[in-house]
Amino acid sequence: MKKVLIEKDTFLKKTFKKYYYGFITKLRVPSRLPEREIGYLTFSPERMVRHLALKSEGELRALILHEVPKALYYSSAYYDDPSAPINERIWKGADLIFDIDLDHLPYEENLMTSFYICPICKNMFDNLINKNCPNCNSQTIEEVKIATKKGLESCKKEIIKLTEILEKDFGLLKDNFCIYFSGKRGYHLTVEGSKYEIADQPFRIELSDYLTLNGFKINRILNENISIEQQIHQFPSPWERGWLGRFSREYIKSTFSDFINHDEDSFRKILLSILSSSKHENLLSSLESIKKRLSVKIDVAVTTDVHRIFRMPDTLHGGTGLVKKKVDEIDKFSPLTDAVVLSDEPTKIHVLYSPKLELKDTFYGPYKNEDITLPEYVATFLVAMGLAQTIENS
Ligand SMILES: [Zn+2]
Repeated sequence: MKKVLIEKDTFLKKTFKKYYYGFITKLRVPSRLPEREIGYLTFSPERMVRHLALKSEGELRALILHEVPKALYYSSAYYDDPSAPINERIWKGADLIFDIDLDHLPYEENLMTSFYICPICKNMFDNLINKNCPNCNSQTIEEVKIATKKGLESCKKEIIKLTEILEKDFGLLKDNFCIYFSGKRGYHLTVEGSKYEIADQPFRIELSDYLTLNGFKINRILNENISIEQQIHQFPSPWERGWLGRFSREYIKSTFSDFINHDEDSFRKILLSILSSSKHENLLSSLESIKKRLSVKIDVAVTTDVHRIFRMPDTLHGGTGLVKKKVDEIDKFSPLTDAVVLSDEPTKIHVLYSPKLELKDTFYGPYKNEDITLPEYVATFLVAMGLAQTIENS
């Protein structure tokens, strides 16, 4: 019997097709579909199709079954005619969108497993000195980044932080938020039908700066050019709204205690004893680290783009085979289990390399240059990541 390796996209398209045929009636269609631009990415040959307008849910379902896209997108914006050239459409507004991606989180160990794989000689490398494959000198070497459970937990914390600020500082309601696991390395939050729907790009840039604390000067909290008495007086109250209060509360928490045990007077007294006995540089550096901790790590380019197309919920991610999954309760959500929707049908693959993985509460690997039979969702994940190929016997 001869072993035949199946092309990546051939296998993925077949698997996606099977999934969509079974799931299509349950697919949740985005609200106000006819007003949104639709786009999709095809499997090999890879091609991006944009500026589509779909009149009905039926048209969307037909498109998915007919094209079986590698990725499917919808605009956050609403237009009079989404299929018209972009400068001829009337822009009617856009959902607020936020993207928290592992790539935008400050470096910490074990948020991602990353390594390089050469598609030509099929070798794997932990590090790369230059852009060429150290073995065959090919320039097509690819970096593979796999989100770990810890990494996705960190993204989740950012989402929780974001929702709290949107609620408290912008008066948005939890009911307005839709949170999704992106299907790969992060979370998306969209706000539909709010008063901010018609906010233009300058507003969205300001909003992003506010959330990321871009341009926020620490001397608004503590200014070394004024006397200690003035510093105490100027230091924000923990009961203050917005960022100033948040800074103050975090400072108290990290320095002496919980602010709820104090009133304004006792708070200022404690502050006096801290400020008069500490070095100014130390105070500033602790405030700078609070700033780093509190800022929300959104991808600013996503939030400020009012014409962006965005991965559609309930559709599969071509890079993992996981689904963009709506999160009902963020505390209980487990992305590497809840976003697994493909079958566990035994699937034979040849794995070039895979680190130890966790999917659906089960560990797989590590594997290196071996043939192995795994559940379809694990096989698809590895194939989509470019780490394995399915095997057929002929
Ligand atoms: Zn190579």
